[in-house]
Amino acid sequence: MTGKAETTQILFDTHCHFNMSDFDKDRENLLQLSQRVGVKGILMPGTTKESWRKIRQLTSLHKGLYTALGLHPLFVEYHKKSDIRSLELAVAMPPISAVGEIGLDFYVKELDRQKQIVLFRAQLQIANIAHLPIILHVRKAHDEVLKHLRIINFRFGGFVHAFNGSQEQAKRYMDMGFKLGFGGAMTYPRAVKLRALAAELPLSSIVLETDAPDMKPITCQSSRNTPIHLVDNFRTLCELRSELPSKIALQATENACQILDIPIDDL
Ligand code: ZN
Repeated sequence: MTGKAETTQILFDTHCHFNMSDFDKDRENLLQLSQRVGVKGILMPGTTKESWRKIRQLTSLHKGLYTALGLHPLFVEYHKKSDIRSLELAVAMPPISAVGEIGLDFYVKELDRQKQIVLFRAQLQIANIAHLPIILHVRKAHDEVLKHLRIINFRFGGFVHAFNGSQEQAKRYMDMGFKLGFGGAMTYPRAVKLRALAAELPLSSIVLETDAPDMKPITCQSSRNTPIHLVDNFRTLCELRSELPSKIALQATENACQILDIPIDDL
């Protein structure tokens, strides 16, 4: 045995753009460091059709990386009609863990809402047919998203990335088999409402995420966030909740694995 035994928890980053060029220079090193601090699983959401190839490549090269493919609502004007068909074909090719990130962004006023809804619904259908969970990106549109999940009768659950809705909306997502993602935003003391949610929602509904390279936690001084900071988000969650850290880590990781259909022993 070398060095001191590390008693680290096993954590899962349910939302990390680890495929982005921000990580091209030191990805391998970051991955090693992340695994050393207990971040054993990282789900990479797709944003455009062009992003899918690298996500797939990285998943095939490294243990602990997982693929999600989707068309992000922020790029609604950029996606081509044929990208939907491409997604349909792509999700039929394993390994793939989820469809995402998809959703509705009504916070950015310039984005055409109707076009977003059409794009979102098409991808919900694809996930339903492929029996895959989804990664949701939702801003100022939770009721609208919940409405379409119901109308389409989406059945495979998923993650609501960076959840910041109401308790009531959280409950409706939970009833539909979704877990709620908490990340760097909750590390800021001024995020009073978000911290109350992280403290009060059932542990069985919570997953952790970084959204790296974005959403830096308060502890991150560098210009980019990394999956290593998942540990900081985990620590904040532990400060906010009454359960033991070991229990919080295990449950959050089990929640992620359950949605993605990954045996926890594989991590
Ligand atoms: Zn994202």
